[in-house]
Amino acid sequence: MEKSEKPLITEDGLRTDGRGPRDLRPVKIEVGVVKNADGSAYIEHGKNKILAAVYGPSEVHPRHFALQDRALLRCKYHMAPFSVQDRKSPAPSRREIELSKVIREALEPSLFLEYYPRTSIDIFIEVLQADGGTRCASITAASIALADAGIPMRDMVVACAAGKVDGHIVLDLNDIEDKNGEADMPLAMMPNKGLITLLQMDGLVTQEEFKQMLELAMEGCNLIYQIQKKALKSTFIKTVEEV
Ligand code: UDP
Repeated sequence: MEKSEKPLITEDGLRTDGRGPRDLRPVKIEVGVVKNADGSAYIEHGKNKILAAVYGPSEVHPRHFALQDRALLRCKYHMAPFSVQDRKSPAPSRREIELSKVIREALEPSLFLEYYPRTSIDIFIEVLQADGGTRCASITAASIALADAGIPMRDMVVACAAGKVDGHIVLDLNDIEDKNGEADMPLAMMPNKGLITLLQMDGLVTQEEFKQMLELAMEGCNLIYQIQKKALKSTFIKTVEEV
């Protein structure tokens, strides 16, 4: 994709989509959208539209993959060919294989996998529309899908990126900022536990900038965590009238 000629931050301090540097994109979450799955969630994070479905704990196939002391957690991140502007090949890419791994590793510390030895828990992530930050939105959605499936967990995992764009530290980069900015740092955490389960970065920043980005990304995670909890509660807590 070509580099953007336009400034990414205007003189008024606004970004290409009209946000201020510390603003999050709008986030909308729906729980239990795939009835055939044991747990599922749909997230709209800005223009990202992502579906996460969880199956299990169930019998492991092939059986020799089974672990004697815990459940086997598998994750498949897939981007639909129509999800991006330049059509993506339907064949699994190296990027999708890598993202499947980092998403699984970001979620694994939150789960009590030892409760389900010799079983598998499968997470399927379908990116229907992408606009930067799909790994973060996928982690947020997959964690709710796991909660919806009733998998015992220490805390939900929530993810958000911070980065550097036109010399400014910004929250939650979109696709143009991701591609043309100076740095992008996705972070996933368990907010109640204060534990970080994913931290990646591309680009170069000073130590002070890194600190600012870390704090900002954690702030973003805490905001999304509130939306995550609200979505779960609205699914499971019904008033007497609703019942
Ligand atoms: N992207 C794209 N074509 C691809 C893969 C990615 O246009 O084949 C875009 C998409 O909008 C994605 C963004 O590039 O969200 C950034 O991708 P990256 O690999 O940094 O992962 P992400 O930020 O989505 O976690």
